[in-house]
Amino acid sequence: MLIILVADGARPDSLGAAMDAGQLPALARLRSEGAAYTVTSTFPSVTGPAYAPFLMGRFPGPIGLPALRWFDRARTTASFPHFTRSYVGHEMRHVDRDIDAAAPTIFELAPRSLGSLSVIQRGLPRASRLGRGARFALRAARTHFAGDASGWLDIDRKLGAELVRRVREDRPDFVFAALTGIDKASHAEGHDDGLVVDAMRIVSDIAGELRDDAEREGRWEDTQLWIVSDHGHSPVVEHEDLAALVENQGHRVVAHPWVYRAHPDVAVMVSGNAMAHLYLDLDERERPWWPALGQRWNSLLELLLARPAVDIALLPQSPTRCEVVTAGRGRAVVEIARTEGDRARYSYRRSDGDPLGLCVDLTAVTADEAWEATIATDYPDSVVQIANLAGAARSGEIILSATRGWDFRARYEPIPHRSSHGALHREHMLVPLIVNRPAAGVPRRTVDVMPSALAVLGITAPPVTDGASFA
Ligand SMILES: [Zn+2]
Repeated sequence: MLIILVADGARPDSLGAAMDAGQLPALARLRSEGAAYTVTSTFPSVTGPAYAPFLMGRFPGPIGLPALRWFDRARTTASFPHFTRSYVGHEMRHVDRDIDAAAPTIFELAPRSLGSLSVIQRGLPRASRLGRGARFALRAARTHFAGDASGWLDIDRKLGAELVRRVREDRPDFVFAALTGIDKASHAEGHDDGLVVDAMRIVSDIAGELRDDAEREGRWEDTQLWIVSDHGHSPVVEHEDLAALVENQGHRVVAHPWVYRAHPDVAVMVSGNAMAHLYLDLDERERPWWPALGQRWNSLLELLLARPAVDIALLPQSPTRCEVVTAGRGRAVVEIARTEGDRARYSYRRSDGDPLGLCVDLTAVTADEAWEATIATDYPDSVVQIANLAGAARSGEIILSATRGWDFRARYEPIPHRSSHGALHREHMLVPLIVNRPAAGVPRRTVDVMPSALAVLGITAPPVTDGASFA
């Protein structure tokens, strides 16, 4: 049996500190018997897209989840008249149909699975889904709109108890359970708040109970228990109202919650809330590219780059090429080359300055080499992440990553955002991975989790994945 618990929003340093302080005894014990790693998540570093690596072994852009909110330029997926998607709320139910039908989920490959609060659950039988009933939805909605972070911790406790019971009774081969208390408490109170430690303790207690049961029933030797997270967190002191900013430039903006807008020309789709896709020339059914877009949109780009909230702007030039632009650190070009029979190759060429802080150019390197070249920088795995998101069919024409201390939504959040995620910088991109047996290989990315899980389960990996097994 393989059990994966997602401690949604946990950062490796804060989880490590709480383990060191003796606050998470069950997790500390797993760490001492197995290992703890720091791996990179994906861009956008936000729940929803950042679950595609765990469940599909894929980066989110190419399989159709460019962000938590996105605009359907092709008008083939989201519905008339606004053609936007937001997985915050009831449109969450569309995720399984929005993702690439040809890319299998782990639930489709491992039939005896149990899932709890999984954003992606295609292939998981209804009876094996925890946290999806009408009563749960009502309770979650009430908790969400009351802005009540401690209510989310109660939900974690309830779902945790049900999970432990179902694992005991059903003995599934594969278990995937998300616990959202750490993320919700971090948004509402800040990632350093005591409520976040309470939420971590719930994860640790659930891990402890799963272990106790397995030991009692003599199956612990055959159980793998992994704890991982999908993104980090960092404090927000100021909010840029990105939709209002663009609107004040004289544009007609479609942005949540006001998606019903006649003749919009810009869609502002914020995730996390520290990243955003801006979609331009909305009447075009096919993606327009830079630099041709510059003629009409340079003034908007200049306005955005002048704002302290904007750290990095990505300007896609083709499905495989993207310019990386900053106000103070210059420009560079990121490219991906996909060749038949070979893994993707990545390049980073500085034109002036060094926006991602690599200090070198990269030419046609492997994903692993690109990871090594960026892991110690302020933007771990940035080259691979930018290359895979920028050219995706559903991505925007300007993709923003926020400056530390800032995010991109100032209104309409039920939970106050004292802390955010979604951006490319290290506090958001680095996540913990704790395993109860040391890994055979080197875990680098969350996208390695799915191929590793399949290896543990003895299931052949699909022909296309973006990760490699560490098991
Ligand atoms: Zn969050």
